[in-house]
Amino acid sequence: MMGLEAKNITFSYGEEQVFSGLDLQILQGKITALVGANGSGKSTILKNLARILRPSGGTIMLDGQEIQNFPAKHIARKMAVLSQMSEAPAGLRVSDLVAYGRYPWQKGFGLLSDEDKEKIRHALELTSLTELAERDLGSLSGGQRQRVWIAMALAQDSEIILLDEPTTYLDMAHQLDVMQLLSRLNADHCKTIIMVLHDLNQAARFADHIIAIRQGAIIRQGSAGEIMCAEVMRDVFGIAADFFEDPRTGKPVCIPYATCTV
Ligand code: ADP
Repeated sequence: MMGLEAKNITFSYGEEQVFSGLDLQILQGKITALVGANGSGKSTILKNLARILRPSGGTIMLDGQEIQNFPAKHIARKMAVLSQMSEAPAGLRVSDLVAYGRYPWQKGFGLLSDEDKEKIRHALELTSLTELAERDLGSLSGGQRQRVWIAMALAQDSEIILLDEPTTYLDMAHQLDVMQLLSRLNADHCKTIIMVLHDLNQAARFADHIIAIRQGAIIRQGSAGEIMCAEVMRDVFGIAADFFEDPRTGKPVCIPYATCTV
């Protein structure tokens, strides 16, 4: 099978087991969202998929082969990872950070080839950062900085992009901006996108497939329509909610009205 798959994986931080015997398939060319309460294991699952952490049992398969068997450069060409609230080193310009995305493709001593330069230019253009290319990262707003990280992932030219809560700390306009950008990258550039999201309405609107996690286990997965229901809200988030249909997108939206015990 092409794409990314977790087979029967188990992971612990020291004594603390986060999940065991977890199976998960990421659909190629789709947007998948991992949702669940804080501490349910979403980030840890993402890091296992990205080979940042290694499961103690089971395997992660990339295009039908065990991910551990690939050289690091191959993985970096296949997958770009944006961690939560990535901090950039001070004094770096936008174009410098985006250029880092070319690292897995470079042969020489960090010299950019014409192809590298073209990929960087294109990544800046797609993320509307061309005008800001020479700016110091420290001088940008949170939303702009998040776009720079996405541009870096684009310059990396990988089929798969993994993101951990890409909209955290952004105001509503910038959240929408980032989600619409990711949507376009999926639709127009065939990127497979896997992201941890804590806003279920955002997941319902933008993801093709939602995986709901509680205590390291998949409680349910499916389309927004299959996830947005009283049972999942209660079991996964501990909330009671009302459900509506967004007249604009036709997608379900929820409005929580009370917490409840599972
Ligand atoms: P989520 O992304 O759903 O908030 P995490 O994957 O970050 O959940 O965390 C899952 C569990 O693992 C939590 O109980 C958390 O405290 C623990 N954990 C996360 N990162 C570490 C770490 N680096 N060391 C030890 N425990 C961790």
